[in-house]
Amino acid sequence: MRLPLLYYGNPLLRKKAEPIEEITPEIRQLALDMIETMDVGNGIGLSAPQIGKSIRLFVLRNYIYLEDGRLGFSEPRVYINPKILSHSTHLLKDTEGCLSIPGINGEVERPDKILIEATDLEGNRFTEEVEGYNARVRMHENDHLNGVLYIDRMKPHNRHKIEAKLREIKKKYH
Ligand SMILES: [Zn+2]
Repeated sequence: MRLPLLYYGNPLLRKKAEPIEEITPEIRQLALDMIETMDVGNGIGLSAPQIGKSIRLFVLRNYIYLEDGRLGFSEPRVYINPKILSHSTHLLKDTEGCLSIPGINGEVERPDKILIEATDLEGNRFTEEVEGYNARVRMHENDHLNGVLYIDRMKPHNRHKIEAKLREIKKKYH
């Protein structure tokens, strides 16, 4: 089931999300619904606060090279109670967007490599070392769990350029 999204200006997007104590059937269903919602919105990641649940859960797909050499997407993955254990000091600039901030993109500088730990839907704790845009997606989604949006991490001169559009989104949805 596709879930309604929260948009920029909604205070729930600014709340620190709570850890998940137990992977219940409701959590499993929620994760599946979030994957559907992410795919319908052409996103590559979606966090629970974006659909109004203040819990530490996000879903994503990795960018991967397909057999024919084209860039495609991996199977969806689920991250419960994720924790970024370490990150490189080397930063990369790239463009980000967010399903909760439609019609806007912005350049953000982030570490190019991270080590992340999380629990999957079967309850297994796993760690991954990820780099490039796939690391960026995890940091972006993890930020959502702490009430942080990518626009908070933009350089002031870039942020300034999108302020008017941000005000429009706030007005449109609230
Ligand atoms: Zn986002």
